[in-house]
Amino acid sequence: MTVKTEVKTYQNLINGQWVDAQKQEVEKSINPADYREIVGYVPLSTAEDVDMAVKAAKSAFPHWSKLSGGARGDVLRKAADLMEQRVNDIAETLTREMGKTLAEAKGEVMRAVAILRYYSSEGMRSIGEVIPSNEEGTLLFTSRSPLGVVGLITPWNFPVAIPIWKMAPALIYGNTVVMKPALEATVTAMKVMECLQEAGFPPGVINVVSGSGSKVGNALTEHPDVKAISFTGSNQVGQLIALKALERGAKYQLEMGGKNPVVVTQNADLELAAELTVSGSMKSSGQKCTATSRAIVVKEVYDEFREKVLQKVKGIKVGNGLAADTYMGPVASQNQYHNVLAAIQKGIDEGGHVVWGGKPLDQDEMAYGYFIEPTLIENVDPSMWIAQEEVFGPVLALIKVDSLDEALQVANDVKYGLSASIFTNHLNEVFQYLNEIEAGMIRVNGESSGVELQAPFGGVKASSTQAREQGRAAMEFFTTIKTVTIKA
Ligand code: NAP
Ligand code: MG
Repeated sequence: MTVKTEVKTYQNLINGQWVDAQKQEVEKSINPADYREIVGYVPLSTAEDVDMAVKAAKSAFPHWSKLSGGARGDVLRKAADLMEQRVNDIAETLTREMGKTLAEAKGEVMRAVAILRYYSSEGMRSIGEVIPSNEEGTLLFTSRSPLGVVGLITPWNFPVAIPIWKMAPALIYGNTVVMKPALEATVTAMKVMECLQEAGFPPGVINVVSGSGSKVGNALTEHPDVKAISFTGSNQVGQLIALKALERGAKYQLEMGGKNPVVVTQNADLELAAELTVSGSMKSSGQKCTATSRAIVVKEVYDEFREKVLQKVKGIKVGNGLAADTYMGPVASQNQYHNVLAAIQKGIDEGGHVVWGGKPLDQDEMAYGYFIEPTLIENVDPSMWIAQEEVFGPVLALIKVDSLDEALQVANDVKYGLSASIFTNHLNEVFQYLNEIEAGMIRVNGESSGVELQAPFGGVKASSTQAREQGRAAMEFFTTIKTVTIKA
């Protein structure tokens, strides 16, 4: 890898202008595949910058919210076209900044393009219903109104798709936005914002303030003019945000962690189950909220399934995400690197047996990156830390059970409930799983990760506050209902 020398310094987008942070401090964003490479410098903003952005968004709201949905949609469509034209540049930046493979990065950018196109038509769909009134000569109906300024706080693992799946619905329903992307992946988020800015949103409708969660994220959460906060990230931070939002009466939406199971029964296609368990747990180095982290397998097929998974994991090519033959890149940061290795060690300390992997990789081109072997751990008891807590890394725990009943009990015995898969061709098992599994996203004979943008997305239990994102379900969070009675 050559080390790039020309490094750009990015700015905040406030009121239609690219501007430095008031204190003019910046932070470097680095490439986790080669930490000698600086991908860009991004502003370390403060509450002052947040306040300027919120003021701009507040003054832009009356005009933007009064435009027709069709007119708002035209700008989203233009943004989609610009992003599509720049797919290669944005995807390469994403790979360099966060580590996922170029194929996955391109997939993510094209998903964001599709989300923008989907919501560009949403402004022409129904936003209410007519309800028969009990009184004569009376029209009773509901209508949806935007909330005002909304704050969006996003994580580093999908720095293109998550900002867009929050921003597109927020905007089409007439809100104005202030976004704080994750510091680890802000260069990528800024390239996305460049497309939106050039698409022609009126000044102040879209704003982005870069900086740390503790300063910028916190200031956004506490700002009295921010009517709602949509957050995706860890449970720890989500809880802080919820308490602050509740205190000042702001609406909030949280999508957080997962400990997603795959259940494999004796009626499964084991080849398919193994293939999709491995891709679900190892793609993006396991850093998806919907990644598979537990395979819960009935004893009759455990050995055969384990062997198939092991062979596939052994074949995984780890390396720089820009190389065409790489299946799995580095983890995203030094923090991630230490956390994932510590999680593996906890698994070992509690009696887990490492079947494959478990160690950092540092030979050849991986010498300067945060690479970790794809890791398979067995002898995992459901009560162990590694079976209960989100690892957010390329680590799969294998758990052997006696029956589907026990599999369900183990699957549900965690605080999370985001996504869950079952592999079986037996209809009764499918129905039992659908009825009893505690998860927001359920897949039968499919990978635990992966979502369709036109369908509701979100979890249950500690994974989510359950105001769904994506599809038409996003309307629930980003609007409020007015119930209207008109008498002739
Ligand atoms: P994180 O540490 O919670 O950070 C998420 C965002 O919150 C970042 O922009 C962060 O800023 C900001 N933040 C940190 N402290 C804050 C505070 N006190 N007030 C306001 N904002 C604050 O999560 P992450 O490590 O970036 O992302 C990984 C987590 O996200 C995992 O738990 C994963 O499961 C979850 N996730 C969930 C979904 C889902 O849809 N359910 C999707 C993707 C990821 P800085 O980091 O820049 O300081
Ligand atoms: Mg980085």
